[in-house]
Amino acid sequence: MYAWLRNVIRAISTLASGMYVTLWYFVQTYRRRTFTSHFAYPENPIPIRPRYRGFHRFDLTACIGCDKCARACPVDCIYIEKEKAVAPAKGFIVTGFAIDYTKCMFCSLCVDPCPADCLYMGSNHDISCYTRDGCIVDFAKLPLTVAWGQDTLNPTAIHESKKVSLPVWTKSGSSTNKT
Ligand code: SF4
Ligand code: SF4
Repeated sequence: MYAWLRNVIRAISTLASGMYVTLWYFVQTYRRRTFTSHFAYPENPIPIRPRYRGFHRFDLTACIGCDKCARACPVDCIYIEKEKAVAPAKGFIVTGFAIDYTKCMFCSLCVDPCPADCLYMGSNHDISCYTRDGCIVDFAKLPLTVAWGQDTLNPTAIHESKKVSLPVWTKSGSSTNKT
C-alpha cells in the first residue's frame, strides 16, 4: 500500500515538474522581445562571443600548401590546388584554396594542424548567396585584402572572385605577382 502511494506521489511530482518547465518556457515566449528590438541588423553588426567560429580567415601569403588542413577536415570540404615552385624558389605555389561552405560544419579542426598559422576561424557569420556555387569560396581568387586576411569575407568579394581565373597573388621569385 505504502509503495503504491509513494509511486503515485512520485508520478504526480514528476509530471508537475515537467509541466512547470513547459509552462515557464511558454510564458517566456510572451515576455521575450523580438530580435529586431535587440539588434539593428544588418545596419549594425550583431555582437559575437570571442571564440565564435565564423567563416574562415586565410592568409594566402603564408600558406605553404602542405595539405594538413584538408586532411584534417572531417567532411573533405577544403580543396587545395598547387604547383611546384620554379627553382631557385622552393615549395609550392598555391593556385587554389577553396572551401565548400555547403559542407563545412565550422568545427575548426582544420585550424589547429596548420603549421603556418594562416588559417583560422573568423567572426563573419553572413555570406548570403543565391546559388550553391556562391557558397564555394576560393580564397586564392579573392581580392588581395580579403585573401591576405586583412578584410573579412563578404558576398561582394566572393562574387568578384568568381570572375577571376588565376590566383590573385603568387610568391615573388616563383612567378609574377598578379593583382
Ligand atoms: S571548419 Fe571543420 S568542416 Fe569546416 S573546413 Fe575546417 S575542418 Fe572542414
Ligand atoms: S595547413 Fe595551413 S599551410 Fe598547410 S595548406 Fe592548410 S592553410 Fe596552408
